[in-house]
Amino acid sequence: MTVPKSSAGSSLLSDRDPMAAMMRGMMGRCPNCGVGPLFDGFLAVNDNCPHCGEALYHHRADDAPPYIVMSIVSIAVIGVMFWMEIAYAPPLWVHAVIGLPLTVVMSLALLRPTKGMMVALQWAKRMHGFNPRHSGGDS
Ligand SMILES: [Zn+2]
Repeated sequence: MTVPKSSAGSSLLSDRDPMAAMMRGMMGRCPNCGVGPLFDGFLAVNDNCPHCGEALYHHRADDAPPYIVMSIVSIAVIGVMFWMEIAYAPPLWVHAVIGLPLTVVMSLALLRPTKGMMVALQWAKRMHGFNPRHSGGDS
């Protein structure tokens, strides 16, 4: 007997592919169908996918995406600052002119894909309310 699957590749009985879901989430698409937009605005997640109707309001991304982005950006920017200091020893204002915009641009560029990946991972792993057997709470 075969397990019926939806055209989007998931059903209540099948496992969800975390990598495919995270790729869809990174692209700002619904982790279930990959077509509907995940976000309603810059970082607000749609309650339901406008294309397939999948419930997305169960996510609990909370502070994880900014924490991950902060870690990546700080390592990259500090690396660039060290390299500049060792290679060119520029004055402090050059560090500020390069480092501050680099920090802001990288943070804004990475925040949305990171949040999309986090929501999609929670969906794929059936965390929080994404598990149909979940009765509530926040675990
Ligand atoms: Zn969808």
